[in-house]
Amino acid sequence: MEQLKNKIMHEGKVLSDTVLKVDSFLNHQIDPELMQEIGKEFAERFRTSNITKILSIESSGIAPAVMAGLYLGVPVIFARKRKSLTLTDRLYSSSVYSFTKKETNEISVSKDFLVKEDVVLLIDDFLANGQAVHGLVNIIEQAEAQLAGVGIVIEKGFQSGGTEIRDKGIRVESLAIVRSLENGEVIFQEEEGN
Ligand code: 5GP
Repeated sequence: MEQLKNKIMHEGKVLSDTVLKVDSFLNHQIDPELMQEIGKEFAERFRTSNITKILSIESSGIAPAVMAGLYLGVPVIFARKRKSLTLTDRLYSSSVYSFTKKETNEISVSKDFLVKEDVVLLIDDFLANGQAVHGLVNIIEQAEAQLAGVGIVIEKGFQSGGTEIRDKGIRVESLAIVRSLENGEVIFQEEEGN
């Protein structure tokens, strides 16, 4: 997606050979117009998949997920990283190790919102080693729902998550795939998605 790649080129900050900071439009401040285009693009790519629900994870997956939900006309659920007092024992949960925070979070989704009749599209901001996606896939399995695919805003193609998830036969659509962050420079992969 050209508009996204341009934004990354102009505003992305390479923090190391493995970490890209995009807090001016995705991870802290949010660019609503770009999110709208991202939502439209995910909706177009999964238009024929009969999605009934989108599942994301707090906090940075929420903005692109909501926009995709708007264009697909389906509700959006986000997995919570902390158990709130209002969430009781009717929960699906899974453990997710955070690549950026170097800590393990227990993520949870209420059984009220994910049922076995659901066809689910997963959406997240980044795909690195695939821990977040694996945790969300595990929750979908617990619910016995169907996984239609995974929509990622920025995939880091040099980390293992994308290959591992595609090797399981799961459809992954990434709107920008970064091939390298070496020498402080963002290099994109030519082919997107699969
Ligand atoms: P994974 O679970 O695939 O290893 O990592 C994905 C999660 O880690 C994303 O939800 C995102 O929050 C965070 N993440 C991983 N790599 C980066 C990165 O380079 N930049 C930012 N801003 N977040 C990242």
